[in-house]
Amino acid sequence: MENFILGFFDFVGNLNFDMLGTFLSFVLVIFWLVLIGWVWIDSGERTSKKSIRITYLLLVIILNIPGLIIYLIIRPSETIEEIYWADLERRYLKFETSELGDCPKCGSQLFPGFVFCTNCGFEIKKKCPSCGMLINKDHKHCEYCGTQVRERAVGEEQYPNAQVMEQQVLASKEHATQTVESKRTKYKTGSSFAVKLGSGILALLDTTKTKLNSKTKAVEIEQVIVNKDSEQTNKGKKKKKNKKKKRR
Ligand SMILES: [Zn+2]
Ligand SMILES: [Zn+2]
Repeated sequence: MENFILGFFDFVGNLNFDMLGTFLSFVLVIFWLVLIGWVWIDSGERTSKKSIRITYLLLVIILNIPGLIIYLIIRPSETIEEIYWADLERRYLKFETSELGDCPKCGSQLFPGFVFCTNCGFEIKKKCPSCGMLINKDHKHCEYCGTQVRERAVGEEQYPNAQVMEQQVLASKEHATQTVESKRTKYKTGSSFAVKLGSGILALLDTTKTKLNSKTKAVEIEQVIVNKDSEQTNKGKKKKKNKKKKRR
């Protein structure tokens, strides 16, 4: 009787273990298939090139989860739609805010329609010699009659291609950084009270948590580099501003 019961438990134990193994491998196969399907759909939102999508797919088919991690690292960071809408939004906002800005001379805020700075009298727009309309001082041609009003570098006259657009995106990023981090800034700075408090606490804990300390040091170095960059960009501010206006 005892032997029979022990045998029965052995049988149940073996059976459950086998079933568990089968069940687990079944779940793994399903997971693998879902993974492959997801990578195919996700890559389709990021690139239209079939060959690249198939490469991503092979990565996950062969390497499974490590392949997925590699895919997540190397896939394009934005979907095609995100790129499209971000670019459209950027250009639209640029148009909308083209008359908003600060006086190049005294820095007071300008509003749409201003011809002179209300604070220092700096001339913001000038009359077109041909049609007499008020035009942007940096435009090459009058926007109302097309008369050429100033010379411009030949390189900037080409029709915007992907490279030019990328440069524009970079330029607006630089402009954003420069605007936000400059000393005359009216914007809040990137480092909030919480960041300052956090780095203060980390500085106190430097004896015990050397790892964390080295991280903040790296951040500090980054900040120094950013500051240097903004100093340099400030030096070339006038030049760049002119360039940007020309691009419009
Ligand atoms: Zn002014
Ligand atoms: Zn004109």
